[in-house]
Parts: sequence; C-alpha cells; structure tokens
Amino acid sequence: MAWECSDCGRKEKPESKITVCHHCGRPVCSVHHEKIDDGAFSAWSDQAAANVAVHCLDCLQIFHPRATDAESGGRSARGLTTA
Ligand SMILES: [Zn+2]
Ligand SMILES: [Zn+2]
Ligand SMILES: [Zn+2]
Repeated sequence: MAWECSDCGRKEKPESKITVCHHCGRPVCSVHHEKIDDGAFSAWSDQAAANVAVHCLDCLQIFHPRATDAESGGRSARGLTTA
C-alpha cells in the first residue's frame, strides 16, 4: 500500500519511508517528521529505545515545543566547580 506524505505529497519509496505521526496519525515522509523521545511511550514498553516516537512537524511544535531547542541548545548542565 503506497502512502504519501500529508505535507508534501511525496509517495513512499524504498529509500524514503513514510511513517505515521503518533499523535495525529498523519503519514509523513522522512523530511517531514522528527523522531524524538516521548514519555507517553514508556507506558507501552519498558525498553528505553521504544520511547522514540515519530512526530509530524506540527505535532512536534504542539506537543513538544522544547524538544528541538533541547537538541540544538547543547548541554548547559555543567555549573558546578569544586574549589
Ligand atoms: Zn513530506
Ligand atoms: Zn502529528
Ligand atoms: Zn509525542
């Protein structure tokens, strides 16, 4: 069954899989989705890797507005110095 991206209309190809957003169920191509950790998944499985869920770019903004910031913002948790 051939999916197409709900964002750009691109058809699924072997090298460009269409995946489904876990919030709204929209099919999205590899360009128009982001895989990020979603705590809601931990209830489904106890494997840490399974927490990674597919998000369309809309839902990424709506449900996880900070997810993209956290990735690019770097690690600033290092504030401690021992004298
Ligand atoms: Zn697309
Ligand atoms: Zn979505
Ligand atoms: Zn999510």
